[in-house]
Amino acid sequence: MTRITAPFLDDPALKRVLAALSAEGAQALVVGGAVRNALLGEPVADVDIATSAPPEDSIRLAEASGLRAVPTGIEHGTVTIVAEGRGFEATTFRRDVETFGRRAVVAYSDRIEEDAQRRDFTMNALYADAAGQVLDPVGGLPDLARRRLRFVGDAETRIREDYLRILRFYRFLARYGREAELQALSACAALREGLRDISRERIGHEMRKLLDAPDPSRALALMAEAGVLPLVLPGADAGDMAELVAAEHDFGTGALPCWPRRLALLGAHDPAGALRLSRDEAREQDRIAQALALPAPEAAYRLGRRAAAQSVLIRAARGEPPPFGWCHAVAKGDQAQFPLAARDLMPDLSGPALGAALKRAETAWIDHDFALGRDQLRRIALEQDS
Ligand code: ATP
Ligand code: MG
Repeated sequence: MTRITAPFLDDPALKRVLAALSAEGAQALVVGGAVRNALLGEPVADVDIATSAPPEDSIRLAEASGLRAVPTGIEHGTVTIVAEGRGFEATTFRRDVETFGRRAVVAYSDRIEEDAQRRDFTMNALYADAAGQVLDPVGGLPDLARRRLRFVGDAETRIREDYLRILRFYRFLARYGREAELQALSACAALREGLRDISRERIGHEMRKLLDAPDPSRALALMAEAGVLPLVLPGADAGDMAELVAAEHDFGTGALPCWPRRLALLGAHDPAGALRLSRDEAREQDRIAQALALPAPEAAYRLGRRAAAQSVLIRAARGEPPPFGWCHAVAKGDQAQFPLAARDLMPDLSGPALGAALKRAETAWIDHDFALGRDQLRRIALEQDS
């Protein structure tokens, strides 16, 4: 018997929820990522619950224990149970009964074996009870021990049920996999066209997670080889990803988020459209792309410190080592305020000439490391114009 110890198992709120759901003998188990990550010693983001109790019973059992239950995804059997101010998603065991290549139509089940069969990978079909005892209906434990990413059942069949699983395959391979079955790799390649019917939101969700893996370079190379990468991100080139990961280690980028920089490195034609980025995320991609065309201090001045720093790392990955002191230069550019204003040049100049003179002075100022004062800049602007 395998047992997990993880801080979430000691969480009184989770304990209350599991106890409530199992009060009349139903099974209530932690499932999926939380169990997998606890076994790997990796951090656990959220704890999902699977239960043999039908959704109506989950609600009734939760309320009988003084907990609030909200039917947040009742169409797929999910109820959010709130304990001590926190919500836990409890989903009734399900089995897939019919599929349309995208989402399965589901029926509830009271058998853990059936619930495990409809999950994507064996390492994601692990369950644990309140005491931490692991239940492994499809042989996920030995796979996880070898870090072997394996579909539950036949890879092609499972992909045809939900083509998003192609991307999930690369995502989990990037993060948790050492071995990938050849059969699964060729199924992903052969069925890639099915991804065209998957919403860009779902694709974007998986790609963000994939790009956030400590080192996504091998998975991305495999995606490129399988023709999957150009399909989800036209124009993307993952060739320098391993170098970017190395540069991130060299330059310590703890404060900066990962996936936007990695996405920018790929240089896709329209990352914002392809992955349905939010307006802020899209703006950040634009900024990094613009920063890549400028010296780092100027990029920091025009586009902010963050975009400039991201561009420095991307250029390092592309074989352009950052100049010494770039961090300081970027901070300086970010703080710099151009000291010359239009009114400083009036009435000597006006109209387009004024604009051009200001621009020239600004260029000179940037070239001099933002160190020229107003009088010097005024002279430069007026001299060159006369
Ligand atoms: P993470 O830590 O990244 O959240 P996770 O394993 O929790 O990893 P989720 O995407 O949150 O991944 O999904 C939760 C669980 O639901 C998975 O572990 C898996 O068992 C199941 N699952 C999610 N999406 C699918 C899918 N498209 N097909 C089959 N099973 C899925
Ligand atoms: Mg999860």
